[in-house]
Amino acid sequence: MVMELTEQQKMLKKTVHDFATKEIAPIAAAIDKSGEFPHDCVSKMSRMGLSGLLVPPAFGGTGPDRLGFFIALEEVAAASAGLAVSLLMSSLVASSILALGNDKQKAKYLPGLAAGKQLGALAATEPSGGANYPFTLQSTARLDGGSYVLNGTKCFISNGSEAGIYLVLARTDLQKGPMGISGLIVEKGTPGFSFGKKDEKLGLRCDVTCELIFEDCRVPRADLLAEGILMPLGAKLATLAMPALGAIATGIARAALEAATGYVKQRVVVAGQTLAGFDNVQYAIADMLTHVEASRLMVHQAGSMPDGETDMTPALAAGIFPCEAALEVANKALQVFGTYGYTSDFAPERYFRDARGLVLIAQPVELRKLFMARMKLGLPPMAPPGGMPPRPAGA
Ligand SMILES: Cc1cc2nc3c(=O)[nH]c(=O)nc-3n(C[C@H](O)[C@H](O)[C@H](O)COP(=O)(O)OP(=O)(O)OC[C@H]3O[C@@H](n4cnc5c(N)ncnc54)[C@H](O)[C@@H]3O)c2cc1C
Repeated sequence: MVMELTEQQKMLKKTVHDFATKEIAPIAAAIDKSGEFPHDCVSKMSRMGLSGLLVPPAFGGTGPDRLGFFIALEEVAAASAGLAVSLLMSSLVASSILALGNDKQKAKYLPGLAAGKQLGALAATEPSGGANYPFTLQSTARLDGGSYVLNGTKCFISNGSEAGIYLVLARTDLQKGPMGISGLIVEKGTPGFSFGKKDEKLGLRCDVTCELIFEDCRVPRADLLAEGILMPLGAKLATLAMPALGAIATGIARAALEAATGYVKQRVVVAGQTLAGFDNVQYAIADMLTHVEASRLMVHQAGSMPDGETDMTPALAAGIFPCEAALEVANKALQVFGTYGYTSDFAPERYFRDARGLVLIAQPVELRKLFMARMKLGLPPMAPPGGMPPRPAGA
């Protein structure tokens, strides 16, 4: 499949590349160190239209352009992968509302998300576990008159306390197992909704993650996005989130490759010879380059799939290979930098820490592989290890 970018996508790539080089790269190390959310930078990204790439013009966006979104993610991630994750998670909420919401919900929430006036956050993971959330999810939303009463705790939620609109997964039907999980839109400031501990993560540190706590939080019935949300959300995670993670991974790997290439050309180690003259370094550069090129091709192929395509393999693969490749490429970059690469004075250690997060976020990479293999084998998409866990209290 030949994946030729449109003129608009080429322009988008250049614009985001220039912005990332000028505005994000200079602050990337500092926001990694402090773990602070860069409000100014995120506002500028929104003004450039990056938060509206998956939203149609009718709701204030410029899309939906999935491939354009992946291109933008690679460019942002090459400067700061944490910022790219923040953009992905917010866009995932917008895209879910676009796909599953009714007209009122779209009109109410999409313009703010598309303009970046409000960030979105997707809350699935709980202290009881994230990898097997369809089986382990404990949060409940009980219908009471005109509202749902939401109770539960979520953890590791990207855009944590920075978001304004939360897509929260909770059980609305305790008898239906995974199919009884629904998605509720919860606005910041709703009584009974508060924030818990902020995480000190190894990498992706400016993607601020924290706990969300819901205590008898009343959510209007009108803000139920979808009952039995697991299948449509699973499809969205597969076709959008997986290649998007691959795009972020490609950005990290590309940045690591560029850093390594620049370094080995100027680092003189013996008798006036630079590292670039050594065979093993050249092999490393070739491997890194191959991984970056292959990763980008996979992501672009996934981004070019027509809407409604039922074969999810390219999208799932784009969430596996590039993420593992980024870890390997960052590791190789770290190696050619020698011990300098092991210090925070140089970028490869940040790339390595950031890449490490990409094989965990959304679904650990083992689960992504199991899901893909089970589809190929004609097995049900997911099965709880060791049989079904006990139902939540009250079931
Ligand atoms: C940077 C970052 C941002 C995140 N942002 C969000 C967010 O915005 N929203 C959100 O909901 N979550 C978010 N998460 C959480 C993430 O989705 C979960 O951490 C992930 O799903 C794993 O859940 P867990 O940590 O509870 O691991 P567990 O479920 O405890 O699993 C631990 C490990 O056990 C193994 N394992 C578990 N189950 C199986 C199985 N069935 N088969 C094989 N191996 C298995 C895997 O190696 C897994 O990594 C984020 C995580 C990170 C790192």
